[in-house]
Amino acid sequence: MSIEKPRGFTTSILHSDADAGIEHGALHKPLHLSVAYGYQDARDLAAVFQGRAQGYVYGRQGNPTSGALEVKVTKMEGGVATVCFATGMGAIGAAMLALLREGDQVVASQFLFGNTVSLFGTLSAHGIEVTFVDATDAANVESALTAKTRMVFVETIANPRTQVADLGRIGKLCSARGILYVVDNTMTSPALFRPREVGAGLVVNALTKYIGGHGNALGGSITDTGLYDWTKFPNIAENYKSQPAKMWGIQQIRKKGLRDWGGTLAAMDAHHIAVGAETLALRMVRTCSNALALADYLCAHPKVGAVYYPGLASHPQHSLSKSLFGAHGGIFSFELEEGIDCFDFLNRLEIVVSSSNLGDNRTLAIPVAHTIFWEMGAERRKGMGIAESLIRVSTGIEDCEDLIGDFRQALG
Ligand SMILES: *Cc1c(COP(=O)(O)O)cnc(C)c1O
Repeated sequence: MSIEKPRGFTTSILHSDADAGIEHGALHKPLHLSVAYGYQDARDLAAVFQGRAQGYVYGRQGNPTSGALEVKVTKMEGGVATVCFATGMGAIGAAMLALLREGDQVVASQFLFGNTVSLFGTLSAHGIEVTFVDATDAANVESALTAKTRMVFVETIANPRTQVADLGRIGKLCSARGILYVVDNTMTSPALFRPREVGAGLVVNALTKYIGGHGNALGGSITDTGLYDWTKFPNIAENYKSQPAKMWGIQQIRKKGLRDWGGTLAAMDAHHIAVGAETLALRMVRTCSNALALADYLCAHPKVGAVYYPGLASHPQHSLSKSLFGAHGGIFSFELEEGIDCFDFLNRLEIVVSSSNLGDNRTLAIPVAHTIFWEMGAERRKGMGIAESLIRVSTGIEDCEDLIGDFRQALG
């Protein structure tokens, strides 16, 4: 008997559909657009409903095309199971509502994606206490923990100021206390980092960003890494305990989160994301090297003030980022020197597009205070260290010289 060698990241994604059995010889998983799934024997339909057999019954709970993507994301993250959603926010919101109860506490990084902060505000209004801490130091997380803490939620690299969470030490803390550790891996993607390696129980990915990569489909996912002991989690309903304990959490997320809230990933979008994922590892190399080259260039420019990028030796978590991720991601931000209007500057860029997305193959830039952080107001922005002139850049895969040339002429 031959022992199967583990395949590399890209090989395993490229051949994932074929491993599951090619339909009609198609090398991509076909688009399954049916809303309902019929069975010749009604007993088989009942068996799928009751979880005694695998299968599909109604499109809101998933379809074979998104199921094939779930397998790929599980492989990318080295997990045991994944549920896909229509968007990243759909994934986070559904998982929170499926797992948390009134009176529970969540300890979260204070440097989170803006819409996640807003969502956590909604949770607070429903009786789930959310405590925000500076998660660049695990000691701050530790001092916020109480007997009611059910979950710690962090991102890998924060957007837009690029703080790196103290991921390894927070993981040790959570596992010692039996607390569910949730890591949003969107900024790094599984090509740079697997949160399982620092003890995360659940991993969030906004598939919209690097995994899809082409800015042509929205999607989100929750992956169970298999590390969390769900028998320690008090909020699992009795009827989701029929399978082995490692499946309890993801089962409840699929039923209470996906089925009941209905943020289903459509087959067409699952297909676009699966095609994009084939080149994730290749694209990340170029994206990260472009970000580093631009951050270096801007650091030395007299019209540029502070530059925030974990790849710079001056970044407070530079060595942490290097040891965790190897490369440092495709997001950096910088402040313009006083007297330069950020809108005038952005309008002078010829290649770089003013846009709010990130993780696209194209380089995108956005004036943070005036757009994605506008709603929270000037005082909150100041508290988060967001200067009014701050510009966030998401580097794509263009030729590096073209990008540097574009910034040079726009600053000239
Ligand atoms: C974009 C993003 C999300 C939300 O993803 P959508 O697909 O836009 O809903 C969540 N977390 C992070 C870190 C993101 O960058």
